[in-house]
Amino acid sequence: IQPQLQSLNAKKRPAGRLVAALLFLPCFLVCMLTGWEIWRSRQETLREAEVSITNMTRALALHTQTTMKVADVVLGDMIERAEHEGLVASKEGRLRTHFEDIARKTPELQGLFIYDARGEWIATSLGRVHKGNNSDREYFKYHQLNSSRSTHIGAPIRSRSTGLWIVPISRRIAHADGSFAGVALVTLRVDFFESAYSKLDVGDRGTIIFAHDTGTLYYRRPFVESIIGLDISSGPLLQFYRRTGQTGTAMLTARVDGVKRLYSYRHLDGYPLIVAAALSAEEIYAPWWSSSLQRTGGLAFFVVVLLWLGKRLLRQLAIRERLEEKLHIVSNGLAQANAELSSLAMKDGLTELANRRAFDAALLHELTRARREGTTVSLLMLDVDHFKKFNDNYGHPSGDACLRQIASVIAMQVTRPADLPARYGGEEFVVLLPATSQCGVATVAERIREAVAALQIPHAYSCEKTVTVSIGGATVDPCSIGMDPTNLIVAADTALYEAKRDGRNRFKFASSLTVADEPLQENLRDLRLHV
Ligand code: GH3
Ligand code: MG
Ligand code: MG
Repeated sequence: IQPQLQSLNAKKRPAGRLVAALLFLPCFLVCMLTGWEIWRSRQETLREAEVSITNMTRALALHTQTTMKVADVVLGDMIERAEHEGLVASKEGRLRTHFEDIARKTPELQGLFIYDARGEWIATSLGRVHKGNNSDREYFKYHQLNSSRSTHIGAPIRSRSTGLWIVPISRRIAHADGSFAGVALVTLRVDFFESAYSKLDVGDRGTIIFAHDTGTLYYRRPFVESIIGLDISSGPLLQFYRRTGQTGTAMLTARVDGVKRLYSYRHLDGYPLIVAAALSAEEIYAPWWSSSLQRTGGLAFFVVVLLWLGKRLLRQLAIRERLEEKLHIVSNGLAQANAELSSLAMKDGLTELANRRAFDAALLHELTRARREGTTVSLLMLDVDHFKKFNDNYGHPSGDACLRQIASVIAMQVTRPADLPARYGGEEFVVLLPATSQCGVATVAERIREAVAALQIPHAYSCEKTVTVSIGGATVDPCSIGMDPTNLIVAADTALYEAKRDGRNRFKFASSLTVADEPLQENLRDLRLHV
């Protein structure tokens, strides 16, 4: 657009700039608005994902907490029985039946176990007593050394009885004096969590995590056995948990697969466990991306079309301007030609004085003005003496040259701006003298006559042997005699006739001026014949 602006001239450039501004402003505003809208919809998408993932984590936590509570209640019951009924082999049958009954009713529990102080199996829900020893297990050692009666949740282990991955939940069994009597253990199958968590939709690249708050991983979706028990304490989720507290939501990049996800975690109330669900950022923003791309594409198209139209508009302005300039030049030339033409139309071709047409118009104009201003209009009428003989003797070209000389002499003697010398026709000239006194008229007439005589143009057939002119003058007052220009012309003509009659080379002023006077009419007729 800049080159289009440059091509406009300085006068049109502000208009061009206005057009450009009117184009850019909506473009800019629409871009800003769309940008803001896109940004806002991104925030909204993120917010919606946050709400959804937080709700999912809440459901996850609720489920896990309930499972833990069930295990805890069962453990409480087991301890109660073990401590009050005693860990004796005779009771084993009753306990086993009771455990089997509980295990049947609570499918999430893999097994219920009671070990004595040496780690020997006392009772189990598995239907038969293994003659094994579990004193090497981490939970057994923990309770052996730790007098706390609270529930202990251990790291995931592979069951000796079933070979499945299990989460051991245990409590210390104590004698009445508080000394170590054994361990009550409830185990949860890790694949139980898998089947429960798989019902939650976290997308193809989302994840669900169930871990000990020290960082030991029980379960992670997608479920792969090899990562059970993995230490994720230095991973971004556990780090975030340590910084934030019981619950939190954040966009984190997983160390395991490098995928950026929106994580929401929850620490279970009363249990050292953490559950977390996460949606991949890519999947969260996928619908937003496609709608943003559509919007941006539409906007880009709109802007391109608008700018293209603007460019065309400015180009049209530039073209119009060039045409206007050309038109201006042409019309200027035309006006000049017209002026020249009209000046030519008002000029006499031979003498370059005003012609008859110009004189007629000026006379009417001056009569009108004189009547308006209460002044007079005077007229001199000149006729070259014996000019026919001059032509006959010296030839027409010499006659023309003589007329040109006389015309320039007349023009030189007429000084006032309103005075108008003109060629009346043939070898007759007139001089229009508005608002000039009779004395002034006579002075001008005499000056012209003397100046012509002073030219000393030889004329063999004239009495003075040089070219001379006879002049008749008249003055009218249009207020008293009317506006008819004929009155003045006839009067001057009559005076000229008198000058001719009295011997030529002289000036005569019309003595009296009457309208439609008989002799005037006759004189006019004579003069016309004479011309
Ligand atoms: P007078 O003193 O009575 O005026 O005598 P005159 O010979 O001048 O008589 P008239 O006015 O009738 O003569 C007019 C002559 O002027 C006729 C013609 O030969 C000459 N004439 C008129 N127009 C032109 C012109 O444009 N060029 C030339 N060379 N001669 C012209
Ligand atoms: Mg003449
Ligand atoms: Mg004449």
